[in-house]
Amino acid sequence: MQNPQALQCGLCGAGQLEHYHQDKFRDYWQCQRCKLVSVAKWHRLSPQAEKAIYDSHENDLHDLGYRRFLSRVFDPVCARLDGMKRGLDFGCGPGPLLAKMFTEVGHTVALYDLYYANDASVLEHEYDFITCTEVIEHVAQPEQVLSQLMALLKPGAPLAMMTKLVIDKTRFASWHYKNDQTHISFFSRETFEYIAEQFNTDIEFIGNDVIILTKR
Ligand SMILES: [Zn+2]
Ligand SMILES: [Zn+2]
Repeated sequence: MQNPQALQCGLCGAGQLEHYHQDKFRDYWQCQRCKLVSVAKWHRLSPQAEKAIYDSHENDLHDLGYRRFLSRVFDPVCARLDGMKRGLDFGCGPGPLLAKMFTEVGHTVALYDLYYANDASVLEHEYDFITCTEVIEHVAQPEQVLSQLMALLKPGAPLAMMTKLVIDKTRFASWHYKNDQTHISFFSRETFEYIAEQFNTDIEFIGNDVIILTKR
């Protein structure tokens, strides 16, 4: 079963994955086409083990530090919205603070989370904006999630994602972000540029970890 030849990129589907890094727990592979770095299937946690980890770091709705952290995505999205809009927070987690921040200023936000708000009916509407913070690095098949989200966006609407970016192999080796066993897909600027091209969106990088894809 541990056959690297059988590995396939979860974003672009390419088969030529190159070994990128190995640590105590896992091997990481890089797609030569879209540059996604991912963890092989046999090193991924079960859904139960994954959820147990999420339950253990529940985010606090009243935590000021967390609010400041989310403002990095909240502020630029708000700046792009004209009037009261309807959004979706995809992968909201157990404490949907980002949605609360949007509703505090008058927007409406639907919640979706595989584990904490699994209501598929919210994925049948169109939205003026979608946020997806600290989510995509937990997804084994990013292509599926991105296609789904793109289909829910109205033309001109932003999809704001937050995830730490891969810089290079040397920094990857000492990167704390990869040590979280629930993180299985790692994106670089090049990977997001590939995504923007594939989905025909505009792209903006804000700071180190916020990426806004705007549907044309
Ligand atoms: Zn790829
Ligand atoms: Zn994460």
